[in-house]
Amino acid sequence: MHKDLEEILISKQDLEASVAKLGARISADYAGRCVTLVGVLKGCVLFMSDLAKHITTDTRLDFMMLSSYAGEHSTGVVRILLDLKESIEDCDVLIVEDIVDSGLTMNYMLQNLKTRRPRSLEICTLLDKPSRRKAPVPIKYTGFTIEDKFVVGYGLDYNGIYRNLPYIGVLKKSAVEAQGNNPCR
Ligand code: 5GP
Repeated sequence: MHKDLEEILISKQDLEASVAKLGARISADYAGRCVTLVGVLKGCVLFMSDLAKHITTDTRLDFMMLSSYAGEHSTGVVRILLDLKESIEDCDVLIVEDIVDSGLTMNYMLQNLKTRRPRSLEICTLLDKPSRRKAPVPIKYTGFTIEDKFVVGYGLDYNGIYRNLPYIGVLKKSAVEAQGNNPCR
């Protein structure tokens, strides 16, 4: 386990099993159709690449990068830093997220992508933290529902690091304090 972690919340084995199950469900639900996975960068990267390998129907991969407007608290006002490369009109679109927390980011994504007239639009998230929800989000595929803890690993970061960990863990308070503004310390 990484020295900055308090505990491992979800092991590599449990992640692999859950991602395989999600892939099987998605393969069955979209059988005979082409599914467009829309990943939300950067958190989606590890999850989406593993998930895509378990999908047996034709699959397109596209990405968006979003950023909340500056300010201490999430307002739900989101800026698009990187937009989709391809049109999604008349396509079956599945948004792939690392975690849904307040739901404000995902709510924005849904409203934005709906205006592009996809044939269908669904959400797949690895982690769901429903206790902090501020906006309702209709999630179709969930890997794990977790408590209100700040987690890192398997795509999730703190200050840009820990994304490469093959498991998901809870960061120690001391690690947060020690890092200050320099993640590469
Ligand atoms: P929401 O708009 O749902 O509040 O925010 C979702 C985003 O907040 C996620 O994509 C992620 O970047 C960040 N986030 C929320 N909870 C956590 C967490 O426990 N750990 C990390 N690393 N990021 C989180």
